[in-house]
Amino acid sequence: KPALSQLGVEMSRLSGVRAIMKDIIETLRSGEGQNFINLSAGNPVILPEVEQLWRDCTGDLLASAEYSEVVCRYGASQGYQPLIDAVVQDFNRRYGLRLTERNILVTPGSQSLYFLAANAFGGYTSDGNLRKIVLPLSPDYTGYGGVTLTPEALVAYKPELDIDYASHRFKYRPDFSLVNIDETTGCVIFSRPCNPTGNVLTDDEVSKLTTLAAKYDVPVLIDSAYAPPYPSLNFTDMTPTFGDNVLHCMSLSKAGLPGERIGIAIGAASIIEILEAFQTNLCIHSPRYGQAIAARAIRSGALGAISLDVIRPFYQQKIAVVEETLSRFMPMDLPWFLHRGEGAIFAWLWLNDLPIADWEFYQALKKVGVIVVPGSTFFPGLHEAWEHKRQCLRISLTGTDEELQTAMQRLAQVYTETMNGN
Ligand code: PLP
Repeated sequence: KPALSQLGVEMSRLSGVRAIMKDIIETLRSGEGQNFINLSAGNPVILPEVEQLWRDCTGDLLASAEYSEVVCRYGASQGYQPLIDAVVQDFNRRYGLRLTERNILVTPGSQSLYFLAANAFGGYTSDGNLRKIVLPLSPDYTGYGGVTLTPEALVAYKPELDIDYASHRFKYRPDFSLVNIDETTGCVIFSRPCNPTGNVLTDDEVSKLTTLAAKYDVPVLIDSAYAPPYPSLNFTDMTPTFGDNVLHCMSLSKAGLPGERIGIAIGAASIIEILEAFQTNLCIHSPRYGQAIAARAIRSGALGAISLDVIRPFYQQKIAVVEETLSRFMPMDLPWFLHRGEGAIFAWLWLNDLPIADWEFYQALKKVGVIVVPGSTFFPGLHEAWEHKRQCLRISLTGTDEELQTAMQRLAQVYTETMNGN
């Protein structure tokens, strides 16, 4: 094995959910792998209408003269011009903005966008001060745990819990008495809708965070991987936020192109230019093929329409199945709470007073053929001890109705036995 640098050690570690995924893959590969109901996936379901859209766009590209512009050529670091133009026009029309092409950056997936931003704005300054990457509401996307080359720069804050005891529901809210955004902050990142919880920060909460950050010229990256206008995986009303210090960060992964690696940042030219230069150094530019088909789907309005007509209703119906099944089978006298299903493709279940750790509960569920993701991997940057971190599970909504019903029924059984000490 070659010797590693400090950074090499850091970056070659399996961080967050990837360590669990390894266990899940091994479980699925084992003898009875095919008998598992696997609700761990972060991969969206392949919906026939969505697949057809991308097939049509690909066919159109292949048949057009533009094809020779797309393959066999390098392009600009900022992105493929027809995609940039399509995004500018679509967002200006939808939200009454005055974007120009200077406000857009296309990256190979949005994960790389967070990597660029976390390291451009967070970490040590030339005079040795540490600028922090603030996650204002923990839990949040596990992938933020691996984006910084300066791990000590990542700080997350415990949320407030808004609990509805009677209906066994709860909702996380940013705890503004804790969240610290000041001249030591490099950038702020949060997902909205949130992976893993399905939470949608209210417009008011977002505005408080962006206003606080604006005082110190701190960029706020709003991870909109599940947000409108595509894939529109919000089940509650929300308005995308724009502003001088706000980066609206999109991903086309949940709109059917996870493998094409398309992330799109929309924000002030001064921020975009920094990330663009960083991207040139890292990888030159995003692949153009996916960008060319995405440009078509956005320009024609088909992507926006399919998000509302197909993608959103599909997952909205799935969360209803989970809610309904849990209400039917979970013991109503015990302290379990499902996070309000406001968006994304997951249900987030909090089992208060659970006598075993989430990891052990995950193992117990495996024994009855159900795979979910233990919640403790979704608290990157939150180092303090907090029982809650070991009491949650992420349940992917990518199963069929029957799978979700069976899995939730089995989960209720295991939960009841665990709480009764069996
Ligand atoms: N942000 C959130 C909240 C996600 O859930 C994901 C993927 O699951 C990503 C970012 C990364 O997406 P991608 O790099 O495919 O755009």
